[in-house]
Amino acid sequence: MSSRSSHVFARGRDLPTATDAHGCEIVDADGRRYLDGCGGAIVVNVGHRDPAVLEALRGAATDTTGVDYVHATQFTSAALEQYADELAPLVPVDDARVYPVSGGSEAIETALKLARAYHLARHEPERHVVIARRGSYHGNSRGALDVSGRDPLRAPYLPWLGQSVHVAAAYPYRDPTSGTELAAALDATIREIGAGRVAAFVAEPIAGAALGASVPPGDYWPAVSDVCRAHGVLLVADEVMTGFGRTGTWFACEHWGLRPDIVVAGKGASNGAWPLGLTIASGAVHDAVHATGDFVHGFTWSHHPIGARVALAVLQRLRDDRLVERSAAAGRSLHALLSDKVAGLAHVGDVRGRGLFAGIELVADRATQQPFPRAERVAERVTRAAKELGLLVYPSTGCADGVDGDVVLLGPPFIVTDTQLEAIVERLVTAIAALDSNDLRSNG
Ligand code: PLP
Repeated sequence: MSSRSSHVFARGRDLPTATDAHGCEIVDADGRRYLDGCGGAIVVNVGHRDPAVLEALRGAATDTTGVDYVHATQFTSAALEQYADELAPLVPVDDARVYPVSGGSEAIETALKLARAYHLARHEPERHVVIARRGSYHGNSRGALDVSGRDPLRAPYLPWLGQSVHVAAAYPYRDPTSGTELAAALDATIREIGAGRVAAFVAEPIAGAALGASVPPGDYWPAVSDVCRAHGVLLVADEVMTGFGRTGTWFACEHWGLRPDIVVAGKGASNGAWPLGLTIASGAVHDAVHATGDFVHGFTWSHHPIGARVALAVLQRLRDDRLVERSAAAGRSLHALLSDKVAGLAHVGDVRGRGLFAGIELVADRATQQPFPRAERVAERVTRAAKELGLLVYPSTGCADGVDGDVVLLGPPFIVTDTQLEAIVERLVTAIAALDSNDLRSNG
């Protein structure tokens, strides 16, 4: 651990220096090895320093022809055209059109503006309200934060926010409301606002960090999709965390046969090796906006040719080496291990998720589902205990009521071996068990 003063505006205290990473492991400057149980922030889907991904970067540097940058208003590139061609058939939107940007938040901003541009193009200028869900996370830029439903993240910036409307998310562990009832509540909200004023409904098909991999009931998405269609409201699926194989299918929408108007992705799309987000619109949305020529939007780094090369290598690795299938199979092993060894632990209220995406909700009392008070910093303590044991997990807080509620997320690379899965679960059990030790309680 480095103690020298640093000029980095860091996101954590006393961070170790990572010096090496391969597959599911990261090594720090002191030689400590960490099993990466969460791929950073659920990003590294095909493994650290994947040879095919590194080769794409190397090729960008050593090929005798090619481009390292062109502006998207002046040129397209062969790499980008090939990537979009290979990606389009895999995305659950009709006649997909891919708009690459530099991250999930930018991709959400792009989707919001695209939804607005779509309605303007169709001569419905009153449609501007975006409905999203409480207990959601869509990013930290201002527009993305406004659709996000995490109160502690929003609180400091509330004077800048307030354009979006939030409805309840599907959270079966704490809310028994059926999917049909939740969809009826969305329908009522749309009618209250006035359907002619609503532009889009934005949601994560399977909740990401905010509600810790909460999977909606089976009747939720079909009913929600029907409500959106009935009111001409665009359905925007935020697959930044769940996309590119994480839940055992290419996109989580596939679990319900959902066909949104816009899919937003990021994270695993580039395996972390290039800052990439994707806004993927249906042909109908694209054509309506394109016909007017009025989509006033774009970023300096959007449609980047090197990003497209990296993303293409990730896509081909997932597709050609059947790693999405591997995510599904390893996910079954992970969930079996979790239900066997973790679900019964004293402070585990719920274990949930799909594929290689799992959320473990920690509670003070299993019988009453009473969360720990936020002041006990339970998710952070378990994360820290796990790190000391050489396991990286991704913590999240506020799931129960916006403030209290502790979750740790697992999302290892898809190449994780069965032995590594066992080690992940074993170390997690020890980290959770340590919650009851005085040592941990006094340490947080
Ligand atoms: N949407 C979801 C579901 C996310 O999980 C995240 C990031 O965690 C974002 C959007 C924002 O992505 P980024 O951090 O790349 O801006």
